Amino acid sequence: MKKALTLSLFLALNVCTLAQTMPKNADPKLWARALAIHKRAIIIDGHNDIPSPMTDDDFDLATPSVGKIHLTDGTPYHTDLSRFKASGITGEFFSIYVGGDTWKAGRAMPRAMDMIDATYRQVERHPQELMFCTTAADIRRAKQLGKVCALMGIEGGYAIENSLSALREFYRLGVRYMTLTHNVTHDWADAHHDTPKNNGLSDFGKDVVREMNRLGMMVDISHVSKKVMDDVLDISTAPIMASHSDARALNDHTRNIPDDVLKRIAKNGGVVMVNFYPSFLDAKTNDAENAMTAKLKPQMDALREQYKNDKAGLNEAVRKLEEANPFYVCDYTRIVDHIDHIKQVAGIDHVGLGSDFDGVPFLPAGMNGMEDLALVTYEMLRRGYTETEIRKVLGENFLRAFAQAEQVAKIGSRKISGEGSLKRIK
Ligand SMILES: [Zn+2]
Repeated sequence: MKKALTLSLFLALNVCTLAQTMPKNADPKLWARALAIHKRAIIIDGHNDIPSPMTDDDFDLATPSVGKIHLTDGTPYHTDLSRFKASGITGEFFSIYVGGDTWKAGRAMPRAMDMIDATYRQVERHPQELMFCTTAADIRRAKQLGKVCALMGIEGGYAIENSLSALREFYRLGVRYMTLTHNVTHDWADAHHDTPKNNGLSDFGKDVVREMNRLGMMVDISHVSKKVMDDVLDISTAPIMASHSDARALNDHTRNIPDDVLKRIAKNGGVVMVNFYPSFLDAKTNDAENAMTAKLKPQMDALREQYKNDKAGLNEAVRKLEEANPFYVCDYTRIVDHIDHIKQVAGIDHVGLGSDFDGVPFLPAGMNGMEDLALVTYEMLRRGYTETEIRKVLGENFLRAFAQAEQVAKIGSRKISGEGSLKRIK
């Protein structure tokens, strides 16, 4: 997700080391074991919004980002090459995110192309640290080479501009999942909290899902309406994913996945990748954030007017205002509450991680950026998860679902001729 000027910025700025820091009151032996498991595991993160600023020509993933803020919205950075190294992440899905405004302005596809190009350029610039990956086998190879896989997922199905040939071009460029909507309903799919127009997926939307199955591009149900979730599960012959969503039973938010859908995902072979955003994880945090946003709105509006020509000045003024107005934020163990719930309802084979780094305004207490990912491993170990279970959550579940989607694609390509290759809705 992305949102405008944020609260609680200060939470993420009190950071100066990139070591995996042992949590307070942790058992040192258990912590050491957690780090060893974490190091051995293939770790895949379903969603990272760093490509949005990467389209700036001056952007370099090698530049340390601790303590830096996104100039577009004042939110803290969570990602850079040294933080990747500290995180232990093997495969990162770089989010090719296209906002509803960009779509409405008719610039969805060029914006997606800019971000794909920016992702390629960072990989070309840092071949020692990064490698471009498009298959499950690539990810396993990257682990052996000690590199981070750059994978890509489109966020906002309108990026294909209602064209299946464009969908295929995105696949050829390396895109391996597509979130069918972002926050707005569009021509062929309804979004989670927008007015429905298609009763879920339109006929063309259903064709998009079938074509994604045939290609081996995974269908992502984060951000879509409940009806779209059900439609996708009715149609998809390949495992699906929720790249960055939580369990609705623990926080009744439209961005989260209801239990009946979790049960169907278990049958489908898919995976729900838990989002780290505290307001999706926790109703109390969501309420506290909303209350504080409402309370500070007059002051925020005044600051925006005062600093309308001074982005840096605005960010600094907002930071001070936020520091003076802290609110409740749940801690990182809440991430594992959601993993526990999905494990109970769908099973241990259907849960993963989808941080939403650099797309959320703040992270759970105790977590400053991707370098703190081992906290999740530690908390699973502390709750009695076995190493096998932990490795499933960290990456093996996604790898299994991804490899299965590749297999379905191979079968599908033998069945389908070129019919419909120019299909496009009006
Ligand atoms: Zn999102």
